[in-house]
Order: sequence, then C-alpha cells, then structure tokens
Amino acid sequence: MQPVNIIGAGLAGSEAAWQIARAGVPVILHEMRPAVATFAHKTGDCAEMVCSNSFRSDDDVMNAVGQLHWEMRAAGGLIMATADRHRLPAGGALAVDREAFSAAVTAALRAETLIEIRAGEVADLPQDGNWIVATGPLTSDRLAGAIRAVTGTEALAFFDAIAPIVHAETIDMSVAWEQSRYDKGETEAEQKAYVNCPMTRPEYEAFIDALLAAEKTEFREGETAGYFDGCLPIEVMAERGRETLRHGPMKPVGLTNAHKPQEKPYAVVQLRRDNALGTLYNIVGFQTKMKYGAQTAVFRMIPGLERAAFARLGGIHRNSFLNSPTLLDDRMRMRQRPNLRFAGQVTGVEGYVESAAMGLLAGRMAAAQALGRDLPPPPSTTATGALVNHITGGAEAKTFQPMNVNFGLFPPLDDARGGRRGRKDRYPAYTGRAKDDFSAWLATQ
Ligand SMILES: Cc1cc2nc3c(=O)[nH]c(=O)nc-3n(C[C@H](O)[C@H](O)[C@H](O)COP(=O)(O)OP(=O)(O)OC[C@H]3O[C@@H](n4cnc5c(N)ncnc54)[C@H](O)[C@@H]3O)c2cc1C
Repeated sequence: MQPVNIIGAGLAGSEAAWQIARAGVPVILHEMRPAVATFAHKTGDCAEMVCSNSFRSDDDVMNAVGQLHWEMRAAGGLIMATADRHRLPAGGALAVDREAFSAAVTAALRAETLIEIRAGEVADLPQDGNWIVATGPLTSDRLAGAIRAVTGTEALAFFDAIAPIVHAETIDMSVAWEQSRYDKGETEAEQKAYVNCPMTRPEYEAFIDALLAAEKTEFREGETAGYFDGCLPIEVMAERGRETLRHGPMKPVGLTNAHKPQEKPYAVVQLRRDNALGTLYNIVGFQTKMKYGAQTAVFRMIPGLERAAFARLGGIHRNSFLNSPTLLDDRMRMRQRPNLRFAGQVTGVEGYVESAAMGLLAGRMAAAQALGRDLPPPPSTTATGALVNHITGGAEAKTFQPMNVNFGLFPPLDDARGGRRGRKDRYPAYTGRAKDDFSAWLATQ
C-alpha cells in the first residue's frame, strides 16, 4: 500500500500519523527539526509545545475546548492520551509537563512499526501521492514560498505570544500565595495550582506607568498584521486603558490573599506551574514585546517577584496561515491540488488542541482515502465538525483570521434560552448533542 506522507511532526502531524497508522496504513512523517530550526522550537522532538504548557479547559460540559478534548479522547487520540499521562495540577485546566509530553509522543510514534520518521525539510509541494501538510505557524520559508506559488494567495501574518517563565524558588511566598480562582478543582493540588501576587492601587498604577514607558521591540519588516485578539501584549492592553489589565489577566476576583485575608487586592498577577517538578512558573497572560532588559525591571515591580529569576522572557512572533475558506474543500484538500491535505494551525485554527484536532481529522480522512473510502467530516454540531466547517467554508473568506473552538461555531439549538443567563442550559445541550453526534460519526468508520 502507498504510504501517506506528512510534512511536519508538530501537534497536528504527530496526531495525523498516529491515526493513519491505527487504520493500518503506512506513514512517512517528515520533520525538519533539529537540522532546520525555528525561532520558537527548542528541541528536535515531535509535538513540541512552544509557549504555554496548557491545553486549556478540560470541562467537556460547559466549555467548547473541553468538548474537543472529549472528542479526541473518544477517537483514540495520541495527543490527549499523552497529555492525560503527563498532566500537572492547574485548576480546571489541562496543563502538562511539556518536555515529558513531547518525549512520550516521540517515543510512541517511533515505536509504531507503520510510521517512519524521516529527517529533513520538504521544500516543495509534491505533485502526486497522498500528502498532509502540517507545517504550522512557522512553516519553513522555502515551503511557504512553494505554497504561495500554487495558491497565488499571500499567507497572512498575525501575532502570537510567549509569556515569561520564573524559577519557583525565587518567588517570595511570604507575599504571594497558592490558590486557583474560586478554589476550582477536585484535589488540593488543583485548588492551589496558581501562585498569586497581590497589588495595591498605588502598586498597580506604578506598574501601568512602567509598562507604558518601557522600551519595546520593533516588529520585523512585513510583520504588519493586527494582533490576534486573544493574545494581546500586556503593554497594548495597558495602552487601551489603564483599567484594562485589571479586567483581564490581572483581575482580582475569586482570590483571597492568604497573608492578609481582610485586604482585597486591587489587582492580582497569576503564575501557573510550567513543569512536573514545580520548579518553573509562567506569568499567565503576560505576553509582551517589551525589550528583555525592560521586562526584567518591570516584572520585578510585581510584589513577590522582586527577586525573581527568569528562565525565559516573553516574546511575540509571526505565524502563517492559509486563507482556508477559499483554498480548502470540506475534506481539507487543496482545491487546486487535491493530493494535498492541510492540517493544524496552518489551516487557520488557533491553539495546540485545535491544531491536534485538525491533525486527527486529516489523518482519518487520508487513511480512508488510502483504503479506497471517503470520510466526510463530522457534523458541525460537534466541536471537531464546527471547527472544520468554519475554516473550510463557514468563515468569511475576506476577513478570515485564526479561530479557537467556541460555542459560537455550533449551530444554535431552537429551544435553548439565549443570552448570558441561558448558558447554563445551552452549553450542556450543545455538548450533549456533540457527544451523541460525534459517537455516531465514529461508529460509521
Ligand atoms: C511563538 C508561538 C507561541 C505560541 N503559543 C501558543 C500557546 O501558548 N498555546 C497554544 O495553544 N498555541 C500556541 N501557539 C500556536 C502553536 O504553535 C500551535 O497551536 C501548534 O503548535 C500548532 O500545531 P501545528 O502542528 O499546526 O504546528 P507545529 O506544532 O509548529 O508543527 C509544525 C511542524 O512542522 C515542521 N516544519 C515546518 N516546515 C517544515 C518543512 N518544510 N519540512 C518539514 N518540517 C517542517 C516544524 O518544525 C514543526 O515541527 C504558538 C505559536 C507560536 C509560533
């Protein structure tokens, strides 16, 4: 049997390879790292998580990304199974030990006899065969050039973000305290998954002044697209209004200062565990384009971080994605070159989970094709189906921008209550319907 070739062993390519091998079809997985590096990846491992260590909410009743987790688990996904094995306490979120996670994904793929991992950059788009392009937001320049030559459409650019990471032992715990917002989580470890640094009003005002005054790095030439709204640099949030951060990542709600329970903090900076050992913490939502020297000075103004040592400072970088609504059909194939499927962030989904989910789907579709069958996408009432439906046609092509999974992508329920108050009924109805429909879709294979 002819193998399926996959370009890119990231979150999407790794999941696609696993799904194809599970269907009994051979796979060649091409990965350019470590020979060709990207500015964000640090290793040669498969499925490296380049920024946050979180797969976000694991609530499969009230949250759309939690529902996507559920669907990937139901479909025997490698990424979710590995994430579950390397889970770290993070309240209601699914955070993982990133190094152990990537090493385990790599080991699982290497152990699978139907998968060959082939080192080296693929610089051209192959003319024939059954291929999946899963080269991600940092698709190599040569391959990006080859894609543009076929599509005639410029890949767009947008900005994503790296939050700074602090060595845990340098956080002053006589000032900071451990608590998840609203004490969320089943176990004590979950309820204490975050480290919180409180600010008084004068401290907050001084912090905002410093953020606004700090020296920023310029974007490189050509990096002129707008920011991705869910990932604004903190200084840009501060520029939008002095109170913006206090209503965003620094909101003080659901938290009680363990050292001064009577004193309500004016703002709170949260840090989340970044590795299994608990030696590293990232500052939640603090992506920034401040210069490194300025970052250290500004972040050390945060009470509890006066003597913080940083394992990594923040940054914001370029991402590439296709105009999928015009370029891809509902089987994720390029209309002009149907031997090429696309998967992952390069299709215009955003995030580790969404990218892996699109890898799972493209893998199953490519395997079906290799076996002489056709696999339609799951219905758009499912999280996977809602996403693929959005990128391959549901979205407005002219203004297409990367998308996270969310309930707004799901077809409305006729009898569900609208508005904020209706969410308590509506979300479980969406996820209940999604589970039924996804299970039915799986049963057809
Ligand atoms: C700086 C930055 C920060 C991010 N932060 C987050 C975050 O905090 N949370 C989140 O959910 N998402 C984040 N993302 C998005 C994240 O990259 C994606 O969610 C996810 O990694 C995408 O998965 P993917 O498989 O599509 O791409 P990737 O995981 O990047 O995998 C693509 C793979 O293809 C390889 N490759 C590229 N070109 C070639 C070629 N020509 N030949 C062979 N191999 C090639 C690359 O080396 C890479 O291994 C961030 C992205 C960037 C760039």
